[in-house]
Amino acid sequence: MKTIQQRFTVDYSYPVIFTRAMFDPGNTVLLDAVRRSGGGRHQALVVIDGEVARLTFGLLERISRYAQAHADALEFVAPPFMVRGGEVCKHEPAEVERIHALVERHRLCRHSFIIAIGGGAVLDAAGYAAATAHRGIRLIRIPTTVLAQNDAGVGVKNGINGFGRKNFLGTFSPPYAVINDFDFLDTLHPRDLRSGIAEAVKVALIRDRSFFDSLYADRTSLARFEPIAMERMIIRCAELHLEHIATCGDPFERGSSRPLDFGHWNAHKLEELSRFELRHGESVAIGIALDALYSWHTGTLGDLDLRRIMTLLDSLGFALYHPSLSWLDIEKSLLEFREHLGGELSIPLLAGIGCAFETHRIDTEIMKSCIDKLASRAAQKSAAPSGMESELPHISEN
Ligand code: NAD
Repeated sequence: MKTIQQRFTVDYSYPVIFTRAMFDPGNTVLLDAVRRSGGGRHQALVVIDGEVARLTFGLLERISRYAQAHADALEFVAPPFMVRGGEVCKHEPAEVERIHALVERHRLCRHSFIIAIGGGAVLDAAGYAAATAHRGIRLIRIPTTVLAQNDAGVGVKNGINGFGRKNFLGTFSPPYAVINDFDFLDTLHPRDLRSGIAEAVKVALIRDRSFFDSLYADRTSLARFEPIAMERMIIRCAELHLEHIATCGDPFERGSSRPLDFGHWNAHKLEELSRFELRHGESVAIGIALDALYSWHTGTLGDLDLRRIMTLLDSLGFALYHPSLSWLDIEKSLLEFREHLGGELSIPLLAGIGCAFETHRIDTEIMKSCIDKLASRAAQKSAAPSGMESELPHISEN
C-alpha cells in the first residue's frame, strides 16, 4: 500500500474598489483591474441586470464609449447581455445556459473576463456561469445594490437555486476584482436600499460593537438613505465581510461554523415561503430579530442589547414580522440549513452586541414563542403605530 499526501496552497488576492462614474472614459478603475493580468487587449463579455440597464440613463452607450476609448486594452466581444434582474435569474438555469452559450460562441478563454453588473442575484448567476465555463473564467463584479456592494458582491461565493432550494448549486470562486460604483444606487427602490442595511446590522452584531454603535447613531440618516451615512455603512460592512473571509481560517466554509450566516437559517426559508415576495435583506432583518430574541430568551443577550437591536431595525423601517413566519417549519428548516452547510448543525447566536457564538441545538418551543412574540409585537405596532423608541413594547416583559 502507498499513500501520496498531496498538499498545496493557493493564494488569492483581489481588489474591492469604491468609486463613482466608473464608465466615464477618464475613470481607469476597470482598466486597471483588467490590466492586473498584464498588458495587451483583453476580451470581455458584459452581463448586465436588465433593471439596471433600463433605469440607468445612457448606461449602455457609456459602456460602449468606454470600450471605444480604451480599445487598445479592452474588447467587448458582444453588446452587453441582458439578464432578468432579481431572484428569477437564479431560479431558471436558462440564464446561466445563455451566458455559457455566449462564452462558447465568442470563443472566450480562461484569460478572458466576464464583467457582471447587477444586484446580488445577477452577480450570483453570472458568477456561477463564469466559474463553470472552462472551469473558471475571470470575473469582475460590479454590484449595483446596497446588499451586493456590502456583502453579496464582495465575497467568494456564487449560486443559483435548484429543486426549489436557495443556492442549491454554486461554487466558491473568488472574483478577479470588485468595483463598487455608488452612482448605481441612485435608481434603487427604497426597499432595496433598506434591504442592504440588514447585512450591515448582521455583521456588526457578530463582529463589531462599535460599528453597531455607529449604525445606531446614524439610524435616522440611514432610514432616509442619506448618501454619506449609506456609503460609510457600505464600506465598513464590505470591509468586515472581507476581513472575516480572510481571517476566519475557513474562507471556503469547509467547517460547520458560519458566523456570517447569523439570522440566515430562517431568512432563506422565509424568502422561499413568501415566494420571494420578501427581499433577501428583508428576510435577514426578520432572521436577525428572531435569533436576537432567541438569544435573549435563552439568557445570552441582555435586555438593553436586545432593545437596541430591535430599535435599530424598527428605525430603519424593517417589518419584523411576515405571515410566512407562521408557516415556518422550524425543524425542517434547521435540517435543510444543516444539510446545506454540511457537518453538524451550527447556528450563530449572540452573547452580546458584537459577539457571536455557535449553538448546535435549537429549542423548537422557545423558537416558536419568539415567533409569537414577533407576531404580537407587529400587531401592537399596527394598532398603535409609532416611530418613538420610548413607546416600543418592552421586550423584556414576560
Ligand atoms: P437582487 O439582485 O434580487 O435585486 C433586487 C432588484 O433590484 C432586482 O429587481 C434588480 O433587477 C434590481 N436592481 C439591481 N440593481 C439596481 C439598481 N441599481 N437600480 C434599480 N434596480 C436595481 O437583490 P440583492 O439584494 O442585490 O441580492 C439578493 C441576492 O443576493 C439573493 O439571491 C441572495 O441569495 C444573494 N446573496 C449572495 C451572496 C453571496 O455571497 N454570493 C451573499 C448574500 C446574498
